[in-house]
Amino acid sequence: IETKLPRVGTTIFTVMSQLAAEHSAVNLGQGFPDFEPPQFLQDALARAMREGRNQYAPMTGIAPLRQQIAAKIAALYGRQVDADSDVTVTSGATEAIFAAVHAVVRVGDEVIVLDPCYDSYEPAIDLAGARAVHVPLVAPDFHVDWQRVRDAVSPRTRLLIVNSPHNPTGAVFSAADLDALAALVRDTGILVLSDEVYEHIVFDGAVHQSVLRHAELAERCFVVSSFGKTYHCTGWKLGYCVAPAALSAEFRKVHQYLTFCTFAPAQWALAEMMAHHPEHHLELPAFYREKREGFRALLADTRFELPPVQGAYFQLADYSAISDDDDVTFARWLTTEKGVASIPLSPFYQTPPSGQRLVRFCFAKSDATQQAAAERLRRV
Ligand code: PMP
Ligand code: GLN
Repeated sequence: IETKLPRVGTTIFTVMSQLAAEHSAVNLGQGFPDFEPPQFLQDALARAMREGRNQYAPMTGIAPLRQQIAAKIAALYGRQVDADSDVTVTSGATEAIFAAVHAVVRVGDEVIVLDPCYDSYEPAIDLAGARAVHVPLVAPDFHVDWQRVRDAVSPRTRLLIVNSPHNPTGAVFSAADLDALAALVRDTGILVLSDEVYEHIVFDGAVHQSVLRHAELAERCFVVSSFGKTYHCTGWKLGYCVAPAALSAEFRKVHQYLTFCTFAPAQWALAEMMAHHPEHHLELPAFYREKREGFRALLADTRFELPPVQGAYFQLADYSAISDDDDVTFARWLTTEKGVASIPLSPFYQTPPSGQRLVRFCFAKSDATQQAAAERLRRV
């Protein structure tokens, strides 16, 4: 069979999780918490199933959940979005990304992505018959060089994908980044897809710079988020897309034939959770700050060098002092020989920077898991 995606293999998250399982490694690779969602949410899900919320949800998502999302956006980002026309509940952020790309990107278009970038972006672009144009973020802090982004714009540019807080680097946008982004797309037809799945995980007093804070940007943005990250339930695959009515209408044309709707009981449970525990997401920065600090302290006497983490739940680790191997080789060795799984960075690049010796550890783990990993990493 002639493949439509010649450069795509099995995603690195699956590869590393399988390797971790085969070698009984502590899995700090694929990003997921090893602790449970809030008890209230678990109970609400069981209740929703018992109470008969088991048939198709409305195509756009249940109204109470869309209303909670709109209310949260008003409270946090000061923007009034219409729960009926602007909010669509999806099967995780992954579906939202795919649907947004396919809603607006045409054959022959270009889509700008910033490397390293989440691995689902480019296949979605490829399948739309478009071309991903890669602009590298600037190490060591992985900031955006907006002039380089501007240089990558062409008459074919249809969409620009941004992600803050950033996976895999933990970098977060400043207000100046939003202004630079707005200036770049002003007076063009370029739309923006803002992947904000880690919106509630920012550290050290930083404020999440949602594009929804920015009136001009919000007019041309698809904003995607994920309940999996916010409520420790990545396996539920619930997320959403917020966009102005005209963009949401196009988005829904794809969504309705991609999945139609997503797991109904969890929608009811999340709506109840948001109504009864609006404080949950406000507590996440302190919760994950403690995880970050604990993990960094545990790794302090290893030979890994740990750059600062501004957001999300990933710690980059520079292994230059340990090995000269490329990151994929090193991550495999660390899993099979030393019993700790990580994620190498090069699969997130079109052209991996030569000599970069970085792997990503997920610190959304219980103290016991962090300690078990650290014990092994100290012997590396
Ligand atoms: N974007 C980024 C940056 C992510 O890290 C993830 C989850 N790993 C997703 C999108 C997909 O989220 P979901 O699991 O809700 O599909
Ligand atoms: N988003 C998660 C990560 O970055 C993994 C998602 C997946 O496995 N597809 O690790």
